[in-house]
Amino acid sequence: MTVTRLIFLGPPGSGKGTQAQILAEDLNIPHISTGEILRQAMQEQTPLGIKAQSYVNSGDLVPDQLVQDLVQERLSQPDVKSGWILDGFPRKVTQAVFLEKLLAEMNQGGERVINLDAPDDVVVARLLDRGRKDDTEAVIRHRLDVYRAETAPLIDYYGDRQKLLTVNGDQSQEEVTHELQKIVTS
Ligand code: AMP
Repeated sequence: MTVTRLIFLGPPGSGKGTQAQILAEDLNIPHISTGEILRQAMQEQTPLGIKAQSYVNSGDLVPDQLVQDLVQERLSQPDVKSGWILDGFPRKVTQAVFLEKLLAEMNQGGERVINLDAPDDVVVARLLDRGRKDDTEAVIRHRLDVYRAETAPLIDYYGDRQKLLTVNGDQSQEEVTHELQKIVTS
């Protein structure tokens, strides 16, 4: 059995959510989006959702402990045996260090990291078009600042560990999907 474990990195609006979902369906493995899980929890007003909402709505990162607990819980479920795609986690170096340790403990190594790259003007235009609650122009700008300060350092973090592959996200959805399919089958 081939096990595919992928981490999607990239600025908000790079298309990583869409691509992660397409690929996960193709490969029949879970697509684990921490943003989706948080939005669902907010909608249901669970304790997690209540704790996360002010951060999510203003475009800040929720505290590590909250997302780390939810990822640990999710990666303990039986459906991850054939692999997974993590979308939106890790989002900063402290979370990457946590994940590395967690995967080692769980014997779930061999993960590859896809950096889906796209220029700022492209991602801002896409996000404004999407119209999610945290997609107002001010919040988008803040999320991009947070991305640059907290998440972009992960490109070097995973590059140093020889786990990183960069894909140009400034292409049509089909072209990006095609490139990603080549990567996962190689
Ligand atoms: P996303 O759907 O990935 O764009 O995430 C939406 C929002 O959820 C982010 O702006 C953060 O507020 C929160 N979030 C998602 N994943 C994480 C994470 N790994 N660490 C901290 N906050 C997160």
